[in-house]
Amino acid sequence: MSADDRENWCLRCGRCCHEKIRLDDERVLITDVPCEHLDVMTKLCRIYANRSHLVGRCQSAAASAKVGALPGDCPYAMVVKGYPAPLMLADHPEHAELVEELYPGCSRVAAGCRRSR
Ligand code: SF4
Repeated sequence: MSADDRENWCLRCGRCCHEKIRLDDERVLITDVPCEHLDVMTKLCRIYANRSHLVGRCQSAAASAKVGALPGDCPYAMVVKGYPAPLMLADHPEHAELVEELYPGCSRVAAGCRRSR
């Protein structure tokens, strides 16, 4: 399978381009805070070609799948046996306070917010 073929697996949902938090119990929480480079209307990265150079924390889908940082129904995650699916904030609103603490005022707003600490 070529890299182009794998690229086509992406549904362009943009969920992996939201900030993630590792919880005290080691589970990953995908927040509703978009990366500052995500176009929240198109759900596409504005700097896609250069993202790995410009944003140190940006990982490939393959690398993200290894650490459970893709939603469980992402095609790249679905091929990983025993994939440790992260929590999605929308399904776990009990973590909303933590997200607000780490990213004040950033939830469900346009990209551009940065981590506060
Ligand atoms: S979560 Fe998966 S399908 Fe959605 S944008 Fe990220 S890689 Fe593509």
